Amino acid sequence: MSEIHLQIDGKDVVASEGMTLVDAAKSVGITIPTLCHHEKLEPYGGCRICTVEVEVRGWPKLVAGCIYPVEKDLVVRTRSEKVDKVRKVLVEEMLAHAPDSEQLKVLAEEYGADKDRFDKHPSFCIHCGLCVRYCAEIKKKHAVGFVDRGSNREISFFPEIAGKECWDCKECFPLCPTSALQAAYVLAESLMSPPEEAGGCGCSCSGHKK
Ligand code: SF4
Repeated sequence: MSEIHLQIDGKDVVASEGMTLVDAAKSVGITIPTLCHHEKLEPYGGCRICTVEVEVRGWPKLVAGCIYPVEKDLVVRTRSEKVDKVRKVLVEEMLAHAPDSEQLKVLAEEYGADKDRFDKHPSFCIHCGLCVRYCAEIKKKHAVGFVDRGSNREISFFPEIAGKECWDCKECFPLCPTSALQAAYVLAESLMSPPEEAGGCGCSCSGHKK
């Protein structure tokens, strides 16, 4: 595999062909923030918080660092006025969905994001796809997926698969940047365990026993 020489934040970097900017930066100790990225999964480029500025033939442009491959003599800036502005707005938008996410709060602090800039739509999920992709790509189970479209898009465990596969797994839980997954799983769990099976009375209350 051939070596690619580029510059990231003024540092000369030697990367391998096919590496992404996020990985090349990491190799020299520069962290580009990510939310939808996972080293075991195919690059996704969903959340765009990894936006960086690159200079191609003297022209600056913004690209997603987690999917953009290293190029010979590329000049990369992981922080700039434009980059920080994009990240700030992205964090503000995501906070409208997941206001309690600790990861988003840290990013908000870093980029001066206003948590109240956008009207709240607390679906708790920022659609990073980590849970869905991990289950499909690594576990090959497809127990969780996106349902609905547009602003109604949300994740859902599919009870017929989740009922068999998820009890001893739950590997996707710690990946979730908002904790949404736990909430969704609890919901699915309740759907999978009717009160009769749990020793309940079969009505919607939680107190009666047979
Ligand atoms: S539930 Fe969490 S991990 Fe899954 S897509 Fe939403 S934010 Fe990402």
